[in-house]
Amino acid sequence: MITDNISHVRQRIKVAAAQTGRNPADIKLVAVSKTKPAALIREAFTAGQIAFGENYAQELRDKSREIGDLPIEWHFIGHLQRNKVKYAVEAKAVIETVDSIEIADELARQVKTKLGENTALSCLIEVNIGDEKSKSGVQPNLLAELAKHISSLPQLKLKGLMIIPPYDSDPEKSRPYFQKIRRLFDELNKTLFAGKPLTELSMGMSHDFEVAIEESSTIIRVGTAIFGER
Ligand SMILES: *Cc1c(COP(=O)(O)O)cnc(C)c1O
Repeated sequence: MITDNISHVRQRIKVAAAQTGRNPADIKLVAVSKTKPAALIREAFTAGQIAFGENYAQELRDKSREIGDLPIEWHFIGHLQRNKVKYAVEAKAVIETVDSIEIADELARQVKTKLGENTALSCLIEVNIGDEKSKSGVQPNLLAELAKHISSLPQLKLKGLMIIPPYDSDPEKSRPYFQKIRRLFDELNKTLFAGKPLTELSMGMSHDFEVAIEESSTIIRVGTAIFGER
């Protein structure tokens, strides 16, 4: 079943990419496996799925140990609490949800102590694009300052931006948020990162990833369409 779901999602990616003349190979599928057992992750991996996303730092750490024999690319996509940063670092995950200078500094500190002097973790900045009180993510007006700070830390490699737009079952409602983050992304690349542009935009979930791909997403995070309801 998971194998079929993955090929169905890959087909949807292909169709959406074709809409705007994009190469589907430029879109990374992160299978969101939160709350699902490691055995299902193994099954998906066997079906050719390499990147997996987890929301809870301890769950990520435990699963990365349990199936440590698989060369999985882990993505941490949940809210990061300062005291849990170490678990995500231990799993050597791509950290998609850096949203404050404090969290960035704690990540850098943990990378240094847990992974050694010469290691750097890839990360993205989560932006609170819908200005929602209940959501994490940096406010757009503080984005440039945070991006600059992360760039000064040798333990972190800033790759791009991540958003979770306000939920609406109609995917078209997500489009303005995807367009807004794309504008902020372009602006950063014209100013702070003119020499070495950010490359990743993580946006799009089971219900709206086609629209995200049309709006130049490079990482989509898909849970339900692969693993079923949680
Ligand atoms: C759970 C989750 C997803 C996946 O959502 P689905 O609707 O199940 O595809 C993607 N991104 C984040 C941040 C999540 O928490």
